[in-house]
Amino acid sequence: MTLGEALTAARAKIDRLDARLLLQYATGCTHTDLLARPETPLIAPAYTQFAEWVDRRAAGEPLAYLVGEAEFRGRVFQVSPAVLIPRPETEVLIELALEKLNGLASPMAVDLGTGSGIVAISLALENPAAKIAAVDISEDAIFVARNNAGRLGARVDFFQGDWLAPLAGKRFDLIVSNPPYVAHGDPHLALNGLPFEPQMALTDGADGLDCIRRIVADAPAHLNPGGWLLFEHGYDQGEASRNLLTAAGFKAAFTFPDLAGIDRVSGAHF
Ligand code: GLN
Repeated sequence: MTLGEALTAARAKIDRLDARLLLQYATGCTHTDLLARPETPLIAPAYTQFAEWVDRRAAGEPLAYLVGEAEFRGRVFQVSPAVLIPRPETEVLIELALEKLNGLASPMAVDLGTGSGIVAISLALENPAAKIAAVDISEDAIFVARNNAGRLGARVDFFQGDWLAPLAGKRFDLIVSNPPYVAHGDPHLALNGLPFEPQMALTDGADGLDCIRRIVADAPAHLNPGGWLLFEHGYDQGEASRNLLTAAGFKAAFTFPDLAGIDRVSGAHF
């Protein structure tokens, strides 16, 4: 079998872009190699790897878990099924966080529920003056995030624990989080590869606002005067998020849309 034939066969089972990317990962070929020399034979072990990946992808497993990495904001992050796959909408959270840190001399920020570490690591790399901490309750997630920080050269202090619990007595200029916010039983959880992702990173097992309530309630004790809390949330959680923030004594609560125009991040300062 040639590369060209393998690609054609795979396209009958999975998305054509996924087929090409998996073939590139399996063989080490570039897109140009595939276009220029489709007659190259595809032999074991690359063939075996490719065939296995195509079948697993056809069964719904996300491409990022098959190849063990995903791109976010121009950087490649390692991922495992212990962490959520980076979503492009989380860029909004990073942009707003950078804006809030901007102008502060040596700000302290913490990322709650860091997962693969994309938020903490992006902030550390894009604001070298900031001191960044990151928390996750999952030891496996911390392992992945620590590895990513090392590979990308980011200085992040990692803590294992439940939201702000491991940070007793510490205060920050910014608390940022992409918490689980999908409601229990939301049909979305059964689609688009989500069943392969860590459910504890997607849903709170309740109405979708449980973790947000907890973070909003605990954040004031960990914020410096004027410090910001920013978090990602679902398309219909903007108003509820602003109400929670205001009721907890936060000021200037706002909601910001993602690139698709959907309410995605809310925040306020204390
Ligand atoms: N935005 C993700 C999704 O809908 C959920 C991410 C999250 O719960 N933090 O797939």
